[in-house]
Amino acid sequence: MQLHPRRTPPTMHIVSYLLAVFAGLFGLMWIMGSQGSIGRIITGVILLGVAAGLVYFARMKTPEKKIVQQIDLSGDVQTEQLSCKACGATLDSESVSVQAGAVFVKCPYCGTSYQIEEEPKW
Ligand SMILES: [Zn+2]
Repeated sequence: MQLHPRRTPPTMHIVSYLLAVFAGLFGLMWIMGSQGSIGRIITGVILLGVAAGLVYFARMKTPEKKIVQQIDLSGDVQTEQLSCKACGATLDSESVSVQAGAVFVKCPYCGTSYQIEEEPKW
């Protein structure tokens, strides 16, 4: 099990969401004010895409930070509370890995592997 804590300051997420909101608003304004201009519609769609990308980026980063901190703070207590969603077996730290900003579980009992998705709390 390899953990490489990459803690992003919370302000980075706030900036990401603010940029997403601005990009989204500008995109909508651009499309609504396009008056049929293809160029403006395309610009607006690109802005909306940027907004969606920023939200996606911020959402991807948030769970990793939270889970790494939980592992740092509570150690085995946290992993002991994890159980396989397929067979219900208790999972130890050997069964959990952090890859590409997401937490993956591989159950040693039934062989199921899946990604843990947590509700964003912000
Ligand atoms: Zn299992």
